Amino acid sequence: MSTVLILGGGTGGVVTANVLSKTLDKKTHKIKLIDRNKNHVFYSSFPLLMINKRKPQHLTRELERLNKKGIEFMQSEVKKIDVKQDEVETSKGKIKYDYLIISLGAEHHPETVYGFAEGAYNIYSFTDLIKLSGQLEQLQKGKIVLFISSLPFICPSAPYEMIFLLDAYLRQRGVRKNIELTVVTPETSPEPLAGPKVGESVRRMLKQRDIKLITEAKVLSLDTTQKQLILDHGIHVDGDLFLGIPPQWGPNVLRDTGLVEAGGWIKVDPHTLQTGNERVFAVGDATALRLPVMGILAPKAGIFAHYQAEVVARNLALLSQGKKPKHRYAAKGL
Ligand SMILES: Cc1cc2nc3c(=O)[nH]c(=O)nc-3n(C[C@H](O)[C@H](O)[C@H](O)COP(=O)(O)OP(=O)(O)OC[C@H]3O[C@@H](n4cnc5c(N)ncnc54)[C@H](O)[C@@H]3O)c2cc1C
Repeated sequence: MSTVLILGGGTGGVVTANVLSKTLDKKTHKIKLIDRNKNHVFYSSFPLLMINKRKPQHLTRELERLNKKGIEFMQSEVKKIDVKQDEVETSKGKIKYDYLIISLGAEHHPETVYGFAEGAYNIYSFTDLIKLSGQLEQLQKGKIVLFISSLPFICPSAPYEMIFLLDAYLRQRGVRKNIELTVVTPETSPEPLAGPKVGESVRRMLKQRDIKLITEAKVLSLDTTQKQLILDHGIHVDGDLFLGIPPQWGPNVLRDTGLVEAGGWIKVDPHTLQTGNERVFAVGDATALRLPVMGILAPKAGIFAHYQAEVVARNLALLSQGKKPKHRYAAKGL
């Protein structure tokens, strides 16, 4: 009996598990999935949760439901990955594997921006968004500042989707005229990876809706006493309500694996998603996939994680039948 071990029950992990459960022979293969959380969380609906168009329970599914498909779910913390010993250490013990798929996403670090944790809502956090949605329901006036702490950050369109939805929501509530909206970003223009046309049209849409935009901003800290976001060059942005996207990097647990490059993202073959170890694959936000032309990190989004997971799972199914892997990731979704 061989074991396929999947780390992470987010988009990449769950898609990998689902495809494998349909394609692998369960008499000869065990599929195990580990996540620290009990629930899968659907981040794509965070913007709707923020404006009270979704309830928290609409965004989560118990990972234990995977057991019904013959996938063994284990809720525990991944502590160490030893690719030389084919072994993963978890808070519930060590697990040996024959094939490993890493889909641990990105780590979020609000604590690295002074004042963030005390003074801003983390709009990439499920619990913060639930609290924020309650406050927005009551909000009558003031200045809202949505800021991106640093690059790269996952789902580059999300902050713009969120500010446009917020604008529409506040108009619907009839309070938009009393509320100023500002976006602060380190990007040169909105969504630079989508090209100059997209950047121009997002700028135009922001302007039409009277949403201020500050680009090429380096966020230094949040002064909770003065209620100011502090940028470099002595620029201060006043606000009553701060919504932040925290700095993000590859999961700490990957640091000593020998699989990662600078920034902590996993080096993978761009077509097979294989790491430096032939029986270890990585998908989703944790990977260091790059754009072929510019060589910079490709945008990180669930749609890419999904297609990468399909490629890995389908190739593993072929390998398990003694066949040659034939599926290749061609940046579908970009
Ligand atoms: C606000 C917002 C809106 C978005 N909207 C979209 C959208 O519209 N379309 C789109 O395509 N993408 C969207 N995305 C991006 C998308 O959600 C991510 O790209 C996708 O979830 C990445 O999947 P993943 O499997 O790589 O990582 P994740 O989904 O983050 O899953 C990683 C999992 O690993 C677990 N984990 C991490 N470390 C450990 C550990 N040490 N031990 C145990 N478990 C661990 C985590 O608990 C988590 O469940 C959005 C993201 C956000 C934040």
